[in-house]
Amino acid sequence: MPVKTKINEILHCVEECSPGQDEFYQATFEVLHSLIPLLEQDNRYLEHNILESIVVPERSIIFRVTWVDDAGKRQTNVGYRVQFSSTIGPYKGGLRFHPTVNLGIIKFLGFEQIFKNALTGLQIGGAKGGSNFDPKGKSDNEVMRFCQSFMSELYKHIGKHQDVPAGDIGVGAREIGYMFGQYKRLTGEFEGVLTGKGLNWGGSKARKEATGYGSVYFAENFLNVYEKDLEGRRCAVSGSGNVAIYTIEKLYSVGAIPVSCSDSRGTIYHEQGIELASLKAIKEIHNKSLEEYATLHPDAIYTGVSHYPENGHAVWHIPCDVAFPSATQNELTLVDAKKLVENGCILVNEGANMPTTPDAINYLRKNKVLFAPGKAANSGGVATSQLEMSQNASMSHWSFDEVDIKLRTIMQNVFKTAYDTSVEFDCEGDLVTGANIAAFRKVADSMIDQGSV
Ligand code: NAP
Repeated sequence: MPVKTKINEILHCVEECSPGQDEFYQATFEVLHSLIPLLEQDNRYLEHNILESIVVPERSIIFRVTWVDDAGKRQTNVGYRVQFSSTIGPYKGGLRFHPTVNLGIIKFLGFEQIFKNALTGLQIGGAKGGSNFDPKGKSDNEVMRFCQSFMSELYKHIGKHQDVPAGDIGVGAREIGYMFGQYKRLTGEFEGVLTGKGLNWGGSKARKEATGYGSVYFAENFLNVYEKDLEGRRCAVSGSGNVAIYTIEKLYSVGAIPVSCSDSRGTIYHEQGIELASLKAIKEIHNKSLEEYATLHPDAIYTGVSHYPENGHAVWHIPCDVAFPSATQNELTLVDAKKLVENGCILVNEGANMPTTPDAINYLRKNKVLFAPGKAANSGGVATSQLEMSQNASMSHWSFDEVDIKLRTIMQNVFKTAYDTSVEFDCEGDLVTGANIAAFRKVADSMIDQGSV
């Protein structure tokens, strides 16, 4: 049977078995189709039915999370942990607390995580979890009670050699702290069962900065191949959370000019460059809307979501040389891609997971815009989480510079792996194909080695 027909058969099964899980289907579609050159060259993967297996999580845990709000009322959310693949190491992947979370979103993120983690060259499997709980507008005590209740079920399924969750959207140092405290209370163990921990109790220096810094290191590696760099480039960044803030910080340190940021309510365009101290104060300390930024900086332009272009996002309509989508999935559409091309953008570097829609990716590539997929470009976060696990295991503490140097090297290697694989398969610079094939090959070969488990 031709490889393409086989893939379509498998994708049909994925669709039938996971109705309504659009993002999961989108992710499997992209990965499986990009593997065609490898599958045509090496038939072991089809012979061993690896594709049918790799698209099914090893385990999906769904549980009720009840907690008591400040008014004394019982509240209920749904918790998830999808342990997708432990083929090359213990499950590893973040927890997302956001009202849009459902099983399909967690499965798409877990599936992507398998390949991202394999690309880092470290021994970590893929997983993801979270809840439809919205930390926004909740008091610290409410967040604490939710996290304690969430961990009261999750602790049964995780462990330092089994599954080590981290943060993601809506899960930062505060949430990790409350969950770690509850894990310790329930098990009596002080162990590196979560990453993103506070520096006083087992966290790693530079973990907070790692995804954003790593994304910029990746972009530099990519541009350098074409004898370009980021210096003096105007960069459009979306989001204003952990990834976006530290992308902006690192962009300044390499001489670029980050001119935008966004949140779920609107976009800021600051032509002279985003003022980092104000952004950090608004988002990291006061947790306020970006409208506040425009009040502090009257020369910045604020566009609320109701004024976004039809089927598009204001942030990508700002003239820029490089785009760093760093908020959420499917936030850069075909309409946006057309505008980026029109404005002369040379690189789209994904800080978020799957932020660019498939039709937008095709349009960018057809128009010779370099495209760095999230599973490669944002892998600095999980790589540094693994460095946190190493420090915990050896009871050591590395300086910020030591971790940052290791992060730089890892991002260089991730880039080289994806790029060299694109060259090997005659599609130089197509990092979607390069990253997917390199990561899949590592995991699939290990699955064959380990037998049908
Ligand atoms: P975060 O700190 O919670 O920030 C998320 C940002 O995205 C916020 O500005 C948020 O705006 C915005 N956002 C979230 N959902 C949105 C939506 N549906 N529409 C528009 N804006 C939305 O999260 P993060 O850790 O920076 O994660 C950002 C992305 O990077 C996610 O795709 C995540 O999976 C990926 N990622 C994160 C890491 C990491 O280490 N943190 C590692 C790899 C990949 P509001 O504040 O208004 O909600």
